[in-house]
Amino acid sequence: MTTSQSKVRELLATLVGFDTTSSKSNLALIAFVEDYLKSHRIGSLRIPSPDGAKADLFASIGGSGNGGIGLSGHSDCVPVEGQRWTSDPFTLTARDGKFYARGACDMKGFLACVLASVPLFETRALKEPVHVIVSYDEEVGCTGVRPLIARLGEDLPRPRAIIVGEPTSMQVIDAHKRIDAYRTRVTGREAHSSLPALGVNAISAAAALVGELDRIGAEVAKTENDPRFEPPYSTLSVGTIKGGTAGNIVPKTCEFQWQVRSLPQAKPGEAERDLATFAEKALLPKMKQVTEEAAVETTSLNTIPAFVAGAGSGAVALALKLTGTDQTHAVSYTTEAGLFEQAGCPSVICGPGDIAQAHAADEFVSVEQLGVCMAFLAGLARELVA
Ligand SMILES: [Zn+2]
Repeated sequence: MTTSQSKVRELLATLVGFDTTSSKSNLALIAFVEDYLKSHRIGSLRIPSPDGAKADLFASIGGSGNGGIGLSGHSDCVPVEGQRWTSDPFTLTARDGKFYARGACDMKGFLACVLASVPLFETRALKEPVHVIVSYDEEVGCTGVRPLIARLGEDLPRPRAIIVGEPTSMQVIDAHKRIDAYRTRVTGREAHSSLPALGVNAISAAAALVGELDRIGAEVAKTENDPRFEPPYSTLSVGTIKGGTAGNIVPKTCEFQWQVRSLPQAKPGEAERDLATFAEKALLPKMKQVTEEAAVETTSLNTIPAFVAGAGSGAVALALKLTGTDQTHAVSYTTEAGLFEQAGCPSVICGPGDIAQAHAADEFVSVEQLGVCMAFLAGLARELVA
């Protein structure tokens, strides 16, 4: 094992040792990164969450003006609850050329490579800076990075290109889908279940709405086709549903959460409008005959913008050069790249590990992938002194 390989392994072992499930604090991990950077004479800035329990981190190596290259990763991970792990998810375990742990792939592997490359960046006379960007709450709607992005070009430097190191198997990704997340709440009327006609069954209405969403989804699948994406159309999916209080009561309320993952070129908001029209025409007139309080209300919970790299993107050109390829790809999952691009920072997604392992039990990143990422970052260091 080379020095840089063992350094990556050591850093990755430390990073996965912090349980940074999105519902928990990431401050211990942030403090570790701060101390590590400080040991290389690099100062960093914390951007605390509103409740102070979490923080983003921004650090510049080799200058602090606008321009330079941002290396961006989220610190949070998805939960391990309900998953069967072969080994402790918060202890890095090596087996068959792979490192297993929660977050090893998504995306502490990339963060470990970035930190291990700090000496490489810091000991050279960079002609432009490298910015290390660590966020929180990516896994719960890309919300944590937004206050940091709002400051780019204000009191923080605006990088000329940002590499988002999500697991792409080190392929260059220049587009992803958009997410719109909603909650639909149905209000009916309670009644004894022996006299259902006196009530308005909120669960039945919700079931009809879910059926309508499936119908809308099938329609969209027939009309859209962008072969760059898999699947090549926008998708709709219901994630949770809850309603009712007892088996012998006609339920008054029912709510469900659903989301649309749309192609970048699709018009956002259409499914929500179609669902509202269906409720207005097919459900509410009958419901309101029983009670005026009957209602179907849909609330937007979150939006993660689609990512489409701008024409002639310098970020994409850089990633292609560093990976030695001429091929870009599009993906159906979302990242922070759309938010960076929207804020005027040309972005690209390229990082170690396979997205298939992200979020799964026995998540891993291969030693080979970490090596490819280290070579990519070494290439970046050469690029920035040349
Ligand atoms: Zn991720």
